[in-house]
Amino acid sequence: DHNDVLLRVEALEAVYGGAVQALSGVDLTVRRAEIVALVGANGAGKTTLLRAISNLLPATRGQVTAGRITYDGRDVGRTRTDALVRAGLVGVLEGRHCFRALTVEENLIAGGLGRGSGRADLRADLEQVYALFPRLTQKRRLPAGLVSGGEQQMVAIGRALMGRPRLLVLDEPSMGLSPKVTAEIYRVLADLNRRQGLTLLIAEQSVTLALRHAHRSVVLENGRSVLEGGAETLRSRDDIKQYYLGPR
Ligand code: ATP
Repeated sequence: DHNDVLLRVEALEAVYGGAVQALSGVDLTVRRAEIVALVGANGAGKTTLLRAISNLLPATRGQVTAGRITYDGRDVGRTRTDALVRAGLVGVLEGRHCFRALTVEENLIAGGLGRGSGRADLRADLEQVYALFPRLTQKRRLPAGLVSGGEQQMVAIGRALMGRPRLLVLDEPSMGLSPKVTAEIYRVLADLNRRQGLTLLIAEQSVTLALRHAHRSVVLENGRSVLEGGAETLRSRDDIKQYYLGPR
């Protein structure tokens, strides 16, 4: 059962600028081939947690001050982001971060370069991404900055997939997208999980979406993980229902 665990976060604490306590005790386990959703209100600490896992907090003057992050059995608290990516821990962060002046295809290829694989491998991976997101095929030669928000999210996910992740970490992939595009993106993610056993950790503001797609959800509140369980567990909690299962 221990070998089943791909990512473990224990008693994690983080601050910004030495003063703002953004995380004050987060515990989280992600098993291989599992989809785990991270839910919680604005400011609960979802983005901070995902940035901590990818070791990206220093770029925003944040730092982990206590606790431990273990990936694939190794303490990765001091492992650089690029080394994490090579080890298969790949993030799709908030805001999509496409290279707007590069074409859709150049953005995708950029995701495969760090791996050191040859042209034929890159080609094959590229074709796989186009098969997953057919609408990117027609847009392959357009600057990424000119395609729609949903397509930019597909580019960001496709670029991450080009790195052949084992654990894909996504920050609010549905942010600002229509229900239709959101459904399209979640369908692809669910397929990758089912067919290839890709492990997913997804921050998701909509509890409805989380319950629909995740095997398990972890609720963050004020920088703490306060509840963890499957759809039944979350649905049975009146407070969760009241706060999160609104009109969305
Ligand atoms: P959202 O859905 O709005 O992204 P979130 O759950 O991801 O919310 P975080 O962005 O992780 O929450 O924010 C957690 C806390 O840390 C909040 O109180 C926020 O104001 C604070 N915070 C986030 N980024 C910074 C920063 N760069 N500098 C200072 N404080 C920050």
